[in-house]
Amino acid sequence: MKDNKKRKPTQKNKTSNRNSGQNKKPAKKGNQPYKHKPIYKTIEINGKAEYLNDDGAGVVINDKDKITVMNLLPGEEAKLSLQKSGKFYDATIIERLNSSEDRINPKCSYFGVCGGCQLQHLSYSRQLKFKSGMVKKLMSTFVDVDKIVGMDDPYYYRNKAISSFAWQTKKVQSGFYKQYSHDVVPIKKCIVQDKVADPIIETVTKLCNDFKYKVYDQDREFGFIRHVLIRTGFESKEVMVVLVVANKIFPGKNNFVKALTKAHPEITTIVQNINDRKTSVVLGDFEQVIYGKGMIQDSLCGLKFNLSPKSFYQINPIQTEKLYNIAMDMANLTEEDIVVDTYSGIGTISLIAAQKCKQVFGVEINKDAIRNSIKNARINNIKNTQFIQGDAGEVMVQMAKEEMPVSTVFMDPPRAGSDETFLSSVVKLKPKQIIYISCNPQTQARDLTYLTRRGYKVDKLVPVDMFPHTTHVETVCKLKLLK
Ligand code: SAH
Repeated sequence: MKDNKKRKPTQKNKTSNRNSGQNKKPAKKGNQPYKHKPIYKTIEINGKAEYLNDDGAGVVINDKDKITVMNLLPGEEAKLSLQKSGKFYDATIIERLNSSEDRINPKCSYFGVCGGCQLQHLSYSRQLKFKSGMVKKLMSTFVDVDKIVGMDDPYYYRNKAISSFAWQTKKVQSGFYKQYSHDVVPIKKCIVQDKVADPIIETVTKLCNDFKYKVYDQDREFGFIRHVLIRTGFESKEVMVVLVVANKIFPGKNNFVKALTKAHPEITTIVQNINDRKTSVVLGDFEQVIYGKGMIQDSLCGLKFNLSPKSFYQINPIQTEKLYNIAMDMANLTEEDIVVDTYSGIGTISLIAAQKCKQVFGVEINKDAIRNSIKNARINNIKNTQFIQGDAGEVMVQMAKEEMPVSTVFMDPPRAGSDETFLSSVVKLKPKQIIYISCNPQTQARDLTYLTRRGYKVDKLVPVDMFPHTTHVETVCKLKLLK
């Protein structure tokens, strides 16, 4: 997942059916008891989940309506309370009447309250089957989809943790936001993130109370502390703490840093990030290093990578190595190959590929990430890479104009996928193969349709589970130029 946003929590057993119930008539205006308030009508039904939708919710079919119910697995029946408002309704489980044999007890006590994970109630082998099914549904017209690559131990895999602060029960608390609110669910333990993160978040929260920092209030535009972000190096064990605050002036900064690093000598760097905007985006534009080097180093596929707070880095290091190895096997590069790695982030794929081919051009829009890439090439003593900052589509247009002899294009776009400017130029450039990594099979399928209508054939496609217990799935595929 291109994971640079905050996770979006959901409410327990509740789901908004924003896409279903379309055939229901909206409530008549004149019936509204209160002006401007929607009409709510609650009914109870017994329903059975037929299948899981892409959000991991059970789908109950009632007349012509598809009702989506969180925490209900296929085959399970439940007494449901449905609240209708116009076209939409929320479903709440009153009582579940049976249990699927695929159901397990979620390991996390916040499951259903925090929306970070959607599938903890489903056994891991079934989660893999579910994701594999999602990919097959979209991709079978292109190719026989390979077996999904899962994790041996699908817990504590995230190298990045984000916690938000709120003033609750007369103290600063930290955790994840509840859906549609500024209420924070105080979370002491998260079973998908690196174990190093929880105790540090707890200490930061305690120190915020000791130092009497005010939590930033977006509505009143007042206060100081907003979020804390922790990044860990899986191999190096280096730890970066990013304190997201609303002001440049950090009262008691030195004592805060001293207390935090004394409690956690494992912390190698602390960065103050300033975000004074009314936004749900976590990081602001301006930052200053207040302890250590302002970046951490990690190793991946035998190479070293420097990461700064804002640069993109895959969040599951164990699965990332598997993903990159599959991509490299697919590409089967030789010393003759000239490669373009688009959406290159901090240059991970570029540098791994560079060891096997003649030349790599990395293309990335984010300036920080480009700076990281250049440094990463230097620290690994790799000399056959060049990094270009810019929009991948525009750079590709230029490369096509110049008729660059590119043999392989790697592409790894964000969730929205690529665009026609990019794809049409790739088609003009005619690389013999394209290796397409995606965190959103929907947009990848759309892009594959474009490419397969213009001279390419999907040769192999492998799903990789980068985000156990969530509904997200990564895919990597190889397209070959038809003769
Ligand atoms: N391949 C890298 C990064 C993938 S994430 C890795 O595996 O780590 C996607 C990257 O695309 C991000 O770094 C983002 O900054 C970049 N990006 C987003 N839109 C872009 C665009 N229009 N042109 C070039 N890069 C873009």
